[in-house]
Amino acid sequence: MRKKSLKTLVFLVFLSLAFYTVLFFYKKKSTATFSSKKSYGTDKAFIWAIKETVQVQQAKKPEALEASQEKIEIPAPAKQILERCPDTPPDLVGPLYVEFTVERTLDEVRKEMNFLKEGGRYKPPDCIAQQKVALIIPFRNRYDHLRHWLYYLHPILKRQQVDYTVYIINQDGEGVFNRAKLMNVGYAEAMKQYDYDCFVFSDIDLIPLDDRNLYRCFESPRHLAVAMDKFNFNMPYDTFFGGVSSLSRDQYLKINGFPNTYWGWGGEDDDIHERIKSRGMTISRPDLATGKYKMIRHQRDLHNEANPNNPFKLRLASLNMNADGINSLRYTVKAIVKDVLYTFITVDIEAPQS
Ligand code: UDP
Ligand code: MN
Repeated sequence: MRKKSLKTLVFLVFLSLAFYTVLFFYKKKSTATFSSKKSYGTDKAFIWAIKETVQVQQAKKPEALEASQEKIEIPAPAKQILERCPDTPPDLVGPLYVEFTVERTLDEVRKEMNFLKEGGRYKPPDCIAQQKVALIIPFRNRYDHLRHWLYYLHPILKRQQVDYTVYIINQDGEGVFNRAKLMNVGYAEAMKQYDYDCFVFSDIDLIPLDDRNLYRCFESPRHLAVAMDKFNFNMPYDTFFGGVSSLSRDQYLKINGFPNTYWGWGGEDDDIHERIKSRGMTISRPDLATGKYKMIRHQRDLHNEANPNNPFKLRLASLNMNADGINSLRYTVKAIVKDVLYTFITVDIEAPQS
């Protein structure tokens, strides 16, 4: 009997030893799951440890969330809701220093204009541009002037927060030059590419001397080149509309675009002025200080001689405008090349031989 109770006692001692051993290892493992550094002696402390660790994790949560939101915001600005760009662009600098003695290659100009997209396109990244503007440049064989124009105008247009593309409309062949018809081609080709609401027509040799002279459209057709150096920074005559001008799509269509029949130099800008006047529109202009321009000096080009018939045509401007314009435009596109600095469109405009 004593032997039996001794056996039972030994068994019980063994059982309780086994129980405490299992309990000890279980506690140690659970604590390690929540806190690897601190060790807690009692059950109460063990529960605290769990609470504390969970609280620390919760407290950290907002910080972690903020960090991840920041990371999302930088690479995905498209999710930002953009506002309309301000009426007065904030980065304008006013009077500009312009000189034509430094020679630059197109490649050098390209390197500087790292903000452009193919085709000579730009759009302000942080606001919605007020207008979509096509810049139309009538062109033939003026590559020196082209480099200067691109070098100066792209940064100005960027500062002006314009959504724009530069179109160089290159007359194919050696026939008589026709500035106004090339500008019509520019309008027609630009409209095939994007929903422009404003058109700025510029000679290749005119650089503005003040970036507050905005390349955009106004209530009335706008004449921008009001004070060229070659005219002593003044208007050569009151109705002058040459060099650089802008018309909204509506204004342009109201006058049936420009005449196609002014071959050679002279008269087409006065014809456009007549068209605008005869449709009851006025001309808007910057003041003479803001509207200063520097012209790159040049000889009269080959195949662009003054046409003695043009002054006579001018008298019939308002009569001819309904039949001669964007509604009668005929041309054939020979090539469209998209450079990062411009869209270059070579076009056959059925020019007579000179
Ligand atoms: N133009 C051109 N190649 C020519 C003739 C004219 O590119 O052979 C373009 C160029 O944009 C130029 C504009 O037509 O600035 C007006 O011609 P020009 O400069 O001869 O006129 P003006 O200096 O008398 O205003
Ligand atoms: Mn010129």
